[in-house]
Amino acid sequence: MAGLITRFAPSPTGPLHLGHAFSALTAWDLAQAAGGQFLLRIEDIDRPRCKPEFESAVIEDLRWLGLQWPVPVMRQSDRMPAYAKALRQLETMGLTYRCTCTRSDIRAALSAPQEGAPLIGPDGPVYPGTCRHAGHQAKDAAIRLDMRKALLRTGPPGFTETGPLYPGHHTFENMEETIGDIVLARRDIGTSYHLSVLVDDAAQGVTLVTRGADLFDATPIHVLLQHLLGLPTPRYHHHRLIRDESGKRLAKRDDARALARYRAEGATPADIRAMVGL
Ligand code: GLU
Repeated sequence: MAGLITRFAPSPTGPLHLGHAFSALTAWDLAQAAGGQFLLRIEDIDRPRCKPEFESAVIEDLRWLGLQWPVPVMRQSDRMPAYAKALRQLETMGLTYRCTCTRSDIRAALSAPQEGAPLIGPDGPVYPGTCRHAGHQAKDAAIRLDMRKALLRTGPPGFTETGPLYPGHHTFENMEETIGDIVLARRDIGTSYHLSVLVDDAAQGVTLVTRGADLFDATPIHVLLQHLLGLPTPRYHHHRLIRDESGKRLAKRDDARALARYRAEGATPADIRAMVGL
């Protein structure tokens, strides 16, 4: 499709492994097939976990695979004012509140006998809403989206999935129960994965978000926020995840499958493509 813009958006918290290679190559191949554009974005909002040496290694591995992208590359750590602006927009709409709960407060609230088994959403157990009406003003607090109020504005969000796993149009009902009041801004970093990713996809004109199936359940959050912020909704392509022989998902700490290691052992980019089934 003409004008397709897609991206690979790694967090430089470890070496790239075969799963990342599959994700990057999938995005690259989709862009190539459409005569479109492939972008790289460095998702480094979590400063303590992101390291410059991992970032250089990511770039080296991707170049070795044969990928190219426009420079300078967008880095999320440079984008804090854009996230703050989006957050202010949602605050002004009256859709947010400050939350002072720690993880253990949330666990304790959810284990109260009347609560039943907690539902697990894309960010873990669905927040029980403890601070929703508390009127906290504290600066040192997380900022959550009031999901009920947000949905009253937009109705259930929907998006078009073009990947082979869940093709078609999806509409998400019951987000209040199954996802709940998600964190828009963590107290330590002032933003969140959800807020940053959708603000940046819009800023970069991304028309097709290519990423792993593990993020499919987070997509309705992003689409809802797009509607609230008046941003366009791209199409989505969630790809399969690369697993090891025992069916376990590859994790970043799984250095045995780091691309650099295969490279050092003499593998070629074509070998890597074959290993991930491309
Ligand atoms: N930075 C995310 C990750 O490394 C990917 C975000 C996305 O593609 O939406 O898992």
